[in-house]
Amino acid sequence: MKYDKLLLAMGSVPRILNAPGSNLGNIFTLRSSVDADKLKSMAKKGSTAVIIGASFIGLETSTNLADRGVSVTIVAPESVPFDRLLGSEIGNMYKNLHEEKGNRFMLGSTVKAFEGDGVVQQVVLESGEKLPADFVILGVGVQPATKFLKGIDLNPDGSVSVDRHFQAAEDIYAAGDIASFKWWFTGEEIRIEHWRLALQAWYDC
Ligand SMILES: Cc1cc2nc3c(=O)[nH]c(=O)nc-3n(C[C@H](O)[C@H](O)[C@H](O)COP(=O)(O)OP(=O)(O)OC[C@H]3O[C@@H](n4cnc5c(N)ncnc54)[C@H](O)[C@@H]3O)c2cc1C
Repeated sequence: MKYDKLLLAMGSVPRILNAPGSNLGNIFTLRSSVDADKLKSMAKKGSTAVIIGASFIGLETSTNLADRGVSVTIVAPESVPFDRLLGSEIGNMYKNLHEEKGNRFMLGSTVKAFEGDGVVQQVVLESGEKLPADFVILGVGVQPATKFLKGIDLNPDGSVSVDRHFQAAEDIYAAGDIASFKWWFTGEEIRIEHWRLALQAWYDC
């Protein structure tokens, strides 16, 4: 299709882990309503979930699973959830709220492998500890869905740099999760994966 102006707004795809066993069944990511339906069908009362990642996807999902009677363990390398984004005081507040719901944290931990017979049955941590799991959710971030693009410069993280009018090149614009831009405050190139940023293109263009 030919265009006069092109807007690129493909959003992101969830990152996966390259650990051994990551192709086993019942290891999920969450992006679409189809993904959410799959998770809901797994979230049976009394089942056991391991969530990898203690940021928005990991913690919002684990709250919901706890409400459904699922036993949840959250694994993440940081020592306090949300520490980098919100600071340790707020991070610890969220951690306490989760623990009050019965969710368990394995912080300072990373995944070495997933093990199971066709489907995941346990998560092996670098420490050697093994966590039983009926299912696993990966909440380890996203990457811009730009792999197919040709003829336009991509940043190392796969994002497209835009100016203050979301312009990336002549007649080509990019917005939302895939767009990175210089933050006026520091000059640092940043990318923000939030609805407000995606909507802002309409207000500002
Ligand atoms: C579970 C979840 C909860 C979230 N909660 C919040 C929240 O509370 N607050 C908040 O601010 N943000 C939240 N986010 C983040 C927010 O959804 C994203 O930042 C926002 O949707 C990005 O908008 P976008 O238009 O860039 O991409 P998207 O909304 O992902 O839309 C991209 C569209 O492009 C399509 N597409 C991709 N590749 C191609 C292609 N090659 N050809 C054609 N079409 C393609 C996709 O199918 C999709 O329809 C959440 C995200 C998730 C997954």
